[in-house]
Amino acid sequence: VAGFPGLTDVHAHPAMNAWLWGRDLRRHYMNGSTFNPLASLTDFKQLERGGVGVQWSALHVPERELLQCLVLRLASLVFPAGRKLRRLSPWECLLDQLGEMERQVDRADGFALARSNAELDAVRARGDVAIVHTVEGGHVLGEVDPVARVHELAGRGVASITLTHLFPRALAGHTHGIPRSPVMRFVCPLDDRVDERRGLTALGREVVTAMADARMLPDVAHCTVAARRDVYALIGDRCPVLMTHTGVRTLNDVPYTACEGDVRAIAASGGLVGVIFMPYWLSAQDPRDGRAVLEQTFTQLHDWSGGTWDHVALGTDFDGFTDPPDDFAGSHTLGSVRPLLDGLGLAREDVEKVLGGNARRVLRDGWR
Ligand SMILES: [Zn+2]
Repeated sequence: VAGFPGLTDVHAHPAMNAWLWGRDLRRHYMNGSTFNPLASLTDFKQLERGGVGVQWSALHVPERELLQCLVLRLASLVFPAGRKLRRLSPWECLLDQLGEMERQVDRADGFALARSNAELDAVRARGDVAIVHTVEGGHVLGEVDPVARVHELAGRGVASITLTHLFPRALAGHTHGIPRSPVMRFVCPLDDRVDERRGLTALGREVVTAMADARMLPDVAHCTVAARRDVYALIGDRCPVLMTHTGVRTLNDVPYTACEGDVRAIAASGGLVGVIFMPYWLSAQDPRDGRAVLEQTFTQLHDWSGGTWDHVALGTDFDGFTDPPDDFAGSHTLGSVRPLLDGLGLAREDVEKVLGGNARRVLRDGWR
């Protein structure tokens, strides 16, 4: 049990997909080989087909600024969650999405929620697929008493929180996270008001410290480089730090991707970097197929980790309004990652670290 917990994806959005579109995760709706928010890439059928054993399920409440985009504003009028997004607070939406995900997991054969390390071991020992809650976007914590909400989420079993997301919020500086394709610029000309100099705020420091106290893992994906450095300095010696869905600077020189300093600091904390399955972030060339850039990204992370495979994981971001590679178009394809890693010459033990062992370790070290 100490070794391989099963194939693990540390960042994808089945819960958001189900909540936004009112879907039943026991059913598969449609695939999407290009950007298509209506595709269902991480429903339970797709997870089973891909041999996923542990899914970290990122709860995410889309930020209000997105409704400046006409297409999304119209969508919010049509879909069941749109009314909630306009009427309820992000925190209320988050709890609603969390509750909905728990109902979905409860009624599905072969799936179970894991709210602690003990529950995760029990779920996997039964042979069921384990769902672990995480949260993307610290905006749901609000600014009044975010520390109390951190403790409430910890009590619900949430394993980690991504401190920032697409727009300026109280905890930390965020970096550009919206793909800048010509189509997006035309359809959704959103100003994400990035300030790359902005680091972790005083409130952010309180929240990150509270997370460590409550045994939750801080996730620096979407943070500015400055905020990432502040998190490593503040808490890197107390708990593993995560960057759950990203690429590497050598292949795509944008602030969103991990640089050598990130990987060294995350490795020193005992944390992990999850490789995103989205060519837009993986490579400046934005290729259709992911295979080559995934291989290069895994190898770069290995090299920056001091030549070990102890800090590399899968963080696909499927169903996160992403455009996945054509050859890894959803969770159902994840079984092909093992042969890809075999092809890079990894020992079996190292393959299993990347596929799930590292994810299991950070939960043991930093979760309840
Ligand atoms: Zn994200």
